[in-house]
Amino acid sequence: MLGLTLPPPYPDELIGSVLCRAAVHLGLSYKQMVPTILGTSQVTLSFFLPSALSRLASLMRKDAEQVLWQNTVFPYAVAFMPLEEVERMKRKVLANDGSLAALIQSATNGMTGLRYCPDCVSHDIQTFGESYWHRAHNLPACHVCLVHDQPLHVTSIDMAKSSRACAYGVPQYLSGAPSAPALEITLQHALASASHRLCTAPQTAKQSHLEQYHRQAQTKGYEMKDGQIASSQVSHDLTQFYGEDYLDSLGVGMRSRVKGWPAMMVRPGTTVPFSPVKHVLLRTFLEQCPEGSKELAYRPPGKAPLDPATLDPQLAKMVRRAHIRANQRLVTMTATKLMQSTGHWQAFRHKRSQFPLTEAELLAFRASEASERKLGGRAAHQRNMARKKASKL
Ligand SMILES: [Zn+2]
Repeated sequence: MLGLTLPPPYPDELIGSVLCRAAVHLGLSYKQMVPTILGTSQVTLSFFLPSALSRLASLMRKDAEQVLWQNTVFPYAVAFMPLEEVERMKRKVLANDGSLAALIQSATNGMTGLRYCPDCVSHDIQTFGESYWHRAHNLPACHVCLVHDQPLHVTSIDMAKSSRACAYGVPQYLSGAPSAPALEITLQHALASASHRLCTAPQTAKQSHLEQYHRQAQTKGYEMKDGQIASSQVSHDLTQFYGEDYLDSLGVGMRSRVKGWPAMMVRPGTTVPFSPVKHVLLRTFLEQCPEGSKELAYRPPGKAPLDPATLDPQLAKMVRRAHIRANQRLVTMTATKLMQSTGHWQAFRHKRSQFPLTEAELLAFRASEASERKLGGRAAHQRNMARKKASKL
């Protein structure tokens, strides 16, 4: 097709979204459009990081490298690679040389469907006359729009088949349910900000991230008396912090806490690479977990028991998170079972008065629908109480 061009990308627009819009503008089906613009028999292109990027960029009248950094998930996928590896990857993509599947997977793993923010859709229609798919909304562990401070909506467009996503059109023609991970909203913000920063921060010479995590774990109280890091405790506490279900939903759940990826990431001398989402999760956890000595699993025999004043705020937070998770998963449990799941039931049960924050959270839990023996409120419980009262008269 002579004189065929693609529209230039909007700010933070994923390249697949440009193709979605182009198909509409050109009045072609997506299947017709791809072979036409590429001049080959290829009919699909990755939504996030397509092959033939240089060809697509020239049709947009843009510099290919600029499109690579601004409109694909490339910066997220390579954010923790050494600079020379980033250069090698960049040359590979721009030369259309070999499969990009591993890079794409590291930037889309654990995502279920394409996401959009309804307020961004309205804003984009008002500003540009059409909506588009934003990169910042479609990164792993991103559940909120940082501009409008509201949950992203998740469509049923399967990410595993994202190469066909372009056929579905732009977000204004789709619907989705609000993303509702069992995480506090401040934590959702922290994860979205950390992920977004990976795409927007300039690529500079990086110090070793793993060394940085090791030092951070030391300062947060994970250093044992012999100078070693209690690495499996980091795995345990990170799992408590996010919840097993959430980690599983991102495809980063772990069977063994000792060999779990957080433990490996804080041990000195680790050289294996980890996916960007693991960096984001560990980084955010280490930033947010309280300072001070932890209940270390490798405690030498006879060590003094945990100080309730240190444990109380941490435990209260764990109870609040377990409460939120139970509510969102619509499960009920007893307060004892909830406390046992934190691993601190024994420390708590004999010194309840020294855990005022935890007690307050537990009381809130027991008054909620998630509590198996709800305080007041539940009809059967009230009937039992009435019966007991009547029998005493
Ligand atoms: Zn928005």
